[in-house]
Amino acid sequence: MCRILDKVVSCVLLLCVLFFGCALATDQHARPAPQAAPAAAPAPAPGPAIASQLAATIAESAKLPLDPAIRTGRLDNGLTWFVRRNVRPEKRAEIWLAVNAGSTLEDDDQQGLAHFVEHMAFRGTKNFKKLEIINFMERIGMKFGPDVNAFTNFDETVYMLKVPTDDAALVEKALAILYDWARNVSFDDEDIDKERGVVVEEWRLGRGAEARMRDKQFPILFKGSRYAERLTIGKKEILETAPHDTIRRFYSNWYRPDLMAVIVVGDIDPVNVERSIKTRFASLKNPLAPPTTRWSAIAFPNCASTPTRRSSTRSRARPHS
Ligand SMILES: [Zn+2]
Repeated sequence: MCRILDKVVSCVLLLCVLFFGCALATDQHARPAPQAAPAAAPAPAPGPAIASQLAATIAESAKLPLDPAIRTGRLDNGLTWFVRRNVRPEKRAEIWLAVNAGSTLEDDDQQGLAHFVEHMAFRGTKNFKKLEIINFMERIGMKFGPDVNAFTNFDETVYMLKVPTDDAALVEKALAILYDWARNVSFDDEDIDKERGVVVEEWRLGRGAEARMRDKQFPILFKGSRYAERLTIGKKEILETAPHDTIRRFYSNWYRPDLMAVIVVGDIDPVNVERSIKTRFASLKNPLAPPTTRWSAIAFPNCASTPTRRSSTRSRARPHS
């Protein structure tokens, strides 16, 4: 998580330099000229020009059409799917569950728990007890890390499996794992307490010089926004002491089908996979009561019409056994 986060910070800083550079340039040109200034022709104002180019670029990207080879749609419960046949590499498929919920949705007493929930998904679910998901993936020749992974960031949590497709049953089983991650993570008390040490260690390993600088920079760079106060890794004391139900609360509030997408890309039969997604995930239900927070998540766009994609600050988290 932290290696990628560092790259993200660099990108954010670069973007901020560009953005604020433009803002400063605009501001300078807006000031009245000093009285003693020579009557030279005013320099061209790069700020507005760059801003208009950026606006045009953003407008164009918002209209980016979806690859017609992608099969997509939305279930009645709001879950979106994207399926695409891609035969390179042969006999492999990437099968992902994307949840539009990350650390910016945490309550004050949940700082770090979006990421904690991601870890718990690998600790066991209703139909895949304890470390059975990892064991299953390793039995079919996949490795924990490159083929089984997940990340949590400010805005989203994404679970990723790569499976062989020689046997269609393996794709079905991978979809069954995604379903359990969407609805059936176990959150056993004992497993939560075992996992605390893992996430605290991840927090501790991230406390290098760059993280200490980030602690100073982010409140300024993101001032006034949720990003200034919701670093995904969270707070050590919360990771160590959060009540079990406080962790479960993030899952029950935000792991809802109208904030989820299932993505399957690979050497698969897209018609069969799409049918399987529709059948399997239709039973997911959204919670009746809205979360007790003033923050709200952004739903996946309706990609059946005009697809758009939010950009996000991504920090990759490697799950731990
Ligand atoms: Zn992690």
